[in-house]
Amino acid sequence: MGSSSTLTEAHHENLFASVLARLQTAAEKIQLKPQVLKVLSNCQKEIKVSLPVVMDNGNIEVFEAYRVIHSTHVGPSKGGIRYAMDVNDDEVRALAAWMTFKCAVADLPYGGAKGGIKCDPKKMSVGELERLTRAYAKAMKNVFGVNLDIPAPDMGTSGREMAWIVDEFNKMIGEDVPGVITGKPINIGGSLGREAATGRGVMVNTLQALEKLKIDPKKATAVVQGFGNVGSHAARLLFEQGLKVVAIGDHSASIYNPNGINISDALQYVSKNNRVLKGFTGGHEIPSDQLLTLPCDVLVPAALQNVINEHNAPKIQAKIIVEGANGPTLPEADDILNQKGILVVPDILANSGGVTVSYFEWVQNKAGFYWSEDEVNQKHDIKMKTAFGKVWANMEEYKVSMRIAAYITALKKIEKAVMDKGFY
Ligand code: GLU
Repeated sequence: MGSSSTLTEAHHENLFASVLARLQTAAEKIQLKPQVLKVLSNCQKEIKVSLPVVMDNGNIEVFEAYRVIHSTHVGPSKGGIRYAMDVNDDEVRALAAWMTFKCAVADLPYGGAKGGIKCDPKKMSVGELERLTRAYAKAMKNVFGVNLDIPAPDMGTSGREMAWIVDEFNKMIGEDVPGVITGKPINIGGSLGREAATGRGVMVNTLQALEKLKIDPKKATAVVQGFGNVGSHAARLLFEQGLKVVAIGDHSASIYNPNGINISDALQYVSKNNRVLKGFTGGHEIPSDQLLTLPCDVLVPAALQNVINEHNAPKIQAKIIVEGANGPTLPEADDILNQKGILVVPDILANSGGVTVSYFEWVQNKAGFYWSEDEVNQKHDIKMKTAFGKVWANMEEYKVSMRIAAYITALKKIEKAVMDKGFY
């Protein structure tokens, strides 16, 4: 997770500027129509609300909450809701724009959005979280909608919050519309395979990248930063594919074992240990800022944004970086990684497995007909491999990094949609 000072500094970076920098580069490569670039350089709609919540001690706390819709050119907007202390308008804008590009790379019929509440869910009781979440759903009554704007989980939220939101929303509109939100628990219209989907997408992208570099997965080593929903499933699935996962880390500890960590043991450990790795004995603890620079074939940053910067990028030894998190690499680190010949499978491709299975959940909700886990996984893998193939082809055609190629892939689709629909 980087040293704490690095993280504090990182949080002050302007994330939306990171998006615009890449957007600009990709736009120049394909001579994107300037009016399309102008449209996509702004968010369509930004909502900020103050949510008063009665806390368990009887006091009222007021929380800042956001929903930003970046684009609805391709379809209704889609994107998660994040609960974290560093949530702010700039961050939500960037995350919303990334959703637009991510959905386009994965070829989903969606635009992009993101929501967030500035809070520390770890310090709140379940009751407080429920009241806050329901207040947020009420405030978003005219924003969310099955064909309008469809939220999902992100950092700090899970199926539990999605269930409260769908319940609150359905009560407000007086109808049962499960597809208004995805990432729900299975028994109330969630999709099999959704919970592991982002990690699964990371695994499929890793295998594709290894194949391109002619590295045998059974002889490859991996380091995974983050052991939440994305990191833990990614580590498990890579481990199941025969990769040797030599290090894992979360906010509590980083664990290294050059002989390979048994990920099943690590998962069992965190399930009994408040979801944190601290104290896990399947390897030895190392300082967290060493995790990203360990020798390995595949590095998966699956925790926070802005963790790979110009200071640590020169020291990264991985051959491939597969971005499980949104925005883990700063633009100034991109050039360093490219010069070092490290293949970076960018976030808007690498972590698009989650929203891809969200799309499947929405389709199943609309049809009222549910698929088996195998069916979901098979369809997911096909979508992911197709997206990887398209990005790879654009990388070769335009002689750019995989990141810029992913933006190019997205922009080609979105440009057509913007031109077809018009600007108004
Ligand atoms: N929050 C996830 C992401 O950043 C999933 C979004 C969704 O499923 O709509 O991709």
